[in-house]
Amino acid sequence: MKTLKYLFLSVLFISVGAFSQEQDKPTREQGHTNNNKFKQLYDEFSTPNMFRTASGAPGPSYYQQQADYKMDIVLDDKNAKISGNETITYSNNSPDQLKYLWVQLDQNMRARDSKTPLIEGGGFAPAQQASSFASTYMTEGFDGGFKIQEVKETNGKDLPYMINQTMMRVELPKALNPGEKFSFTIKWWYNINNHQKDRGRSGYEYFPEDGNRAYVIAQFYPRMAVYNDVEGWQNSQFWGRDEFALPFGNFEVNITVPADHILDATGKLTNRKEVFTKEMMKRYEKAKKSYDKPVLIVTQEEAEAAEKGFSNKTKTWKLYAENVRDFGFATSRKFIWDMMAVKVGDKDVMAVSMYPKEGNPLWEEWSTYAVATTLETYSRMTFQYPYHKAISVHAKQQGMEYPMICWNYGRPDENGKYSDRTKYGMISVIIHEVGHNYFPMIVNSDERQWTWMDEGLNTFLQYVTEQDFGELYPAALSPGHDKYPSSRGPAANIVPYMGGDQNFIAPIMTKGLNTYQFGNNAYGKPATALNILRETVMGRELFDYAFREYSHRWMFKHPTPEDFFRTMEDASAFDLDWYWRGWFYTTDYVDIGVKDVKKYFVSSEPNEYAKNMAKRYGMELSDLPPLVFMVEEGSEEFNEELKNGTLLDNSTPLKEYVMDNFTEAERQNIKAPKYFYNVTFDKPGGLVMPIIVEYTYADGTSKTEHYPAQIWRLNDKEVSKSVASDKEIVKITVDPNLETADVDTSNNSWPREVQQSDFDKFKEEVKE
Ligand SMILES: [Zn+2]
Repeated sequence: MKTLKYLFLSVLFISVGAFSQEQDKPTREQGHTNNNKFKQLYDEFSTPNMFRTASGAPGPSYYQQQADYKMDIVLDDKNAKISGNETITYSNNSPDQLKYLWVQLDQNMRARDSKTPLIEGGGFAPAQQASSFASTYMTEGFDGGFKIQEVKETNGKDLPYMINQTMMRVELPKALNPGEKFSFTIKWWYNINNHQKDRGRSGYEYFPEDGNRAYVIAQFYPRMAVYNDVEGWQNSQFWGRDEFALPFGNFEVNITVPADHILDATGKLTNRKEVFTKEMMKRYEKAKKSYDKPVLIVTQEEAEAAEKGFSNKTKTWKLYAENVRDFGFATSRKFIWDMMAVKVGDKDVMAVSMYPKEGNPLWEEWSTYAVATTLETYSRMTFQYPYHKAISVHAKQQGMEYPMICWNYGRPDENGKYSDRTKYGMISVIIHEVGHNYFPMIVNSDERQWTWMDEGLNTFLQYVTEQDFGELYPAALSPGHDKYPSSRGPAANIVPYMGGDQNFIAPIMTKGLNTYQFGNNAYGKPATALNILRETVMGRELFDYAFREYSHRWMFKHPTPEDFFRTMEDASAFDLDWYWRGWFYTTDYVDIGVKDVKKYFVSSEPNEYAKNMAKRYGMELSDLPPLVFMVEEGSEEFNEELKNGTLLDNSTPLKEYVMDNFTEAERQNIKAPKYFYNVTFDKPGGLVMPIIVEYTYADGTSKTEHYPAQIWRLNDKEVSKSVASDKEIVKITVDPNLETADVDTSNNSWPREVQQSDFDKFKEEVKE
């Protein structure tokens, strides 16, 4: 009986530990369901199936639809109209029979009867852009909707269709069975919007000085909606914010524009010799071998001469693109054009920039280098860039992406002068939009539903690329900057948002249309979350491997958020459900502090705790197993023992005291800590995070410890850590390098750093 008690008692002492952890026990007033922050995400995630596996990879029955397009497009520059004749061939690779097809008519967002303006609440903005005020309140509004002239079978028979805002349902003559294809044609035109006046992600900019327009054209043709195992038809309306969901396909596009225009687009130019001059061909051949600097295909001088042309003749540019989800093009007689070759893996890719003279000198200086760096960094972090070119087009106030081509802002003033803000803004937006080739153009997530899946992942890699760019091109950095000043990515930059008014914050896992502070929600916070995951939680090696695995698994496929979350865990053995839950499903923030530090001493005398335990189990103190007793500095026991001389406050007696427990060999290596601390961390913030602690010692040295987030698994409010040290600790700092986005750092150090009050500061300033 006694042996049993003895055993039980020692187990009890061991499990309770040297320091009492009573305060680690949560207090609960009533029953509760499992709301532990480390609970797995079974309730939030859908059940894995044959389409999508539990590991986050495409399953054995994964399928995706295909939409191939053949289009003849004509740009009417005089009237700013565009018309098209397109044939769509739709392949039903799903196991389902389809009675109808859904086609997206995004331009209907700017139709006269568009419902987009009707869902904007909030009344008058106190200040608004004069141009948008005028077009909203002082005109009848721009008529930019699609004019659908025909929808026909390839044999010329009309197909019944119905248009609901930005979605068009096309009835099939007979149901489309799994494995079957269906071809049909659509004839359409619309008025092109002035994107400066009527906004929008595409359109034209008008240059009154020379009477020209520069066009950046996208969402310009009726596009197939996505049909998949997750949504069925993704036919959620385009209200103007949530971007697009598109299937992959092959595009054969002929674009007819004025003969003196310069044009670039998604796809391979298949009639280069017809549309290039001999001089342009020569320069192009040179650019293909120029790896260190861009070669001008069209010079500024030539572009300025062309501005005066206004040719009545036309030219047709023919393009072919394989396995892309969309098609865009830019055309104008104002364009200067440069190109540079980039080695990406075993392939040469062309980095391309196209800009009116108004973009110079900034654009000729940095655009193509920014494109090249993006291809290099993203290819290293994900997969080798699969296309043959990446184009950055300058369009005022635009930042928008399409396969192989994107529009970017960043314009000097009329004298060619530009601020740091304009320069960095331009480089950053180019990196961002070119980066979108990877997410969502190739890793083809559903932008209509999940803005963060492309914007967040892309903004994270934008940050990594910006840092690379700063190292590769120090000449691009302004005086006083030793690295690229990224605005999104560093943990500290998201603090004002995450620590802000909870009434205006939505979880990342919210459809873009329904979020407040869109930029912070869908770009800044997920990008920062991934950066913190990489730098602070998982470490670069584990994170990068898993991130690359996700990119490869879903390259040219359609992933969901769960596919990303699951893959990151599957490839790293890192349980991240707590991280996804906190950062992506809630609006909680990080706030961890040091609450209290107590110094402990080892005593040879049984302390109160031991005496009480022995009494409770009916044992004599002499029956106790060899135990080390801890007493808190300043406690009654402590004062008494200090008086009695029973404190083992020096390493030698302590060593001797425990010697019996060690073999001869072990005794050689025995450590002799002299200082014992009970450090209590508290967590006013809702997010569980690793505790990063810097311990500074009396001799001026310091040591940093990372306690994994799981330290919070049993108590979400506060935890205590026992610390044994050879050296006296004089300072403890939580998150010393500001890498966790802790919203309140006033509680991050011990002893508390006295915060100077504003009044004190004021007094000091007055004194000066
Ligand atoms: Zn973006």
